Amino acid sequence: MNNYDVLILGGGIIGLSTAYQIARRSKLKVCLIEKGAGVGEGSTGASSAILRHRYSMDNMVYLARDGINCYRQWSAFTRMSKPRMQFMPHGVLWMPGEDLQWSKTEDQRLKRLGIASMVLDDQNLKEKFPAINPCVFTPNTLTGAAHQCSAGGSHLLEPDGGFTDPVAAMQDLLEACLAEGVTVKMQTRAQSIDVGAGTVSGITLVNGKTLHAGVVVNALGPWCEPLNATAGLTSPFNLTPTRIQVLYLDLPAQPEPLLPMPLPVCADLGGVYFRTQNNNQQLVAGSTLETDENEVIDNPDHFDRFPDENFKVRTLHVLHHRIPELPYRGKVHGYCGLYTINRADVHPVVGESAVKNLYVANGFSGHGFKLAPAIGSLLAQQITGTKADMDTSVPIEFLSANRAPLTTTGQKSALA
Ligand SMILES: Cc1cc2nc3c(=O)[nH]c(=O)nc-3n(C[C@H](O)[C@H](O)[C@H](O)COP(=O)(O)OP(=O)(O)OC[C@H]3O[C@@H](n4cnc5c(N)ncnc54)[C@H](O)[C@@H]3O)c2cc1C
Repeated sequence: MNNYDVLILGGGIIGLSTAYQIARRSKLKVCLIEKGAGVGEGSTGASSAILRHRYSMDNMVYLARDGINCYRQWSAFTRMSKPRMQFMPHGVLWMPGEDLQWSKTEDQRLKRLGIASMVLDDQNLKEKFPAINPCVFTPNTLTGAAHQCSAGGSHLLEPDGGFTDPVAAMQDLLEACLAEGVTVKMQTRAQSIDVGAGTVSGITLVNGKTLHAGVVVNALGPWCEPLNATAGLTSPFNLTPTRIQVLYLDLPAQPEPLLPMPLPVCADLGGVYFRTQNNNQQLVAGSTLETDENEVIDNPDHFDRFPDENFKVRTLHVLHHRIPELPYRGKVHGYCGLYTINRADVHPVVGESAVKNLYVANGFSGHGFKLAPAIGSLLAQQITGTKADMDTSVPIEFLSANRAPLTTTGQKSALA
């Protein structure tokens, strides 16, 4: 009863996507285990679930494109007639501030890679998104000193980007996994990965029971490294659970909308990203600064789930600069989740490890949600040796656990 072909560890978006992608194309006996009572216990539950294509590396753009394509065609992908998740096609707006060349360069690059994009001047921006201040300056959050807003910026729009609800996506994938015959064991916590003669043989649970499998996939998000260590793996990448803060503000639409809509997903490289949710009744906002990705957490089971006052003040300052009509009122709420940051090159580590048939899908930083369908596709192609519709064609070696750190443009934040 406890023998499987493939054991997937972790019921976040990466584990669920991988289990589903294997099951939908093969007859392999797949089992997924999750320590929580339901989905959403890890990074995915706190994800802003922004779906954007622009990355500094071309293969990352392709993986984002292939992942987002599955979210756009979610019903076909999940084979569900009425999935819970909806892709919100609000577009993704990049605001690089005083750098007037950035948008033009990235626009040409995205177009070359087959991704829809356009450069907006201030006038175009005001027409499309009247609530957004096009100013090229960033407020000084240290001194709070005021500045005279300045026009003349150059902004980049990905019209095919958007966002979604990460928990709805996981619930759909869970249902899709069950429909494809995946065994799902909730409230089941792995203690160790078992290895014999250099090959994985299964896992031992915290209750001492063992599950046997020819293939094991570690998709444990921020909990990945201690379990890899039980199999004797020492990663050359420094994968650190890192506390990430997010705010949300209520924007009640009654009796009339507080802000002119629509609002896109906005990545203001001066310090803030934001998007709407709940049918424009809330604003979700976080930081785009690398300096806000430094709080390493020793134990992912225990960390402060509420944002710091200082973070609130700084983030709101930049947010109000970008949306001047946003009213100052009410208490600002928020929550925190964990990125697992690959400190060597900020990109994920995916594929077979030094232990035969032990696969890792780790270190997703702020990228994992959008990439998940493509990552599941990479692993399913390698584990089953077969292809399916909506597969990515990016070679898995690109993210190999044995690679040298990838060379990026130097951007080390989740925006890399
Ligand atoms: C605040 C925030 C905002 C983000 N915004 C975006 C975004 O806009 N776009 C984007 O693409 N990405 C975003 N990300 C990143 C993305 O959410 C993550 O990369 C992704 O969710 C990682 O998924 P995962 O399945 O690897 O990990 P997780 O979701 O953490 O899943 C791992 C699972 O393993 C389980 N587990 C742990 N230990 C054990 C064990 N021993 N046995 C069994 N189960 C175990 C956990 O309970 C958990 O459910 C964001 C992340 C955060 C935190």
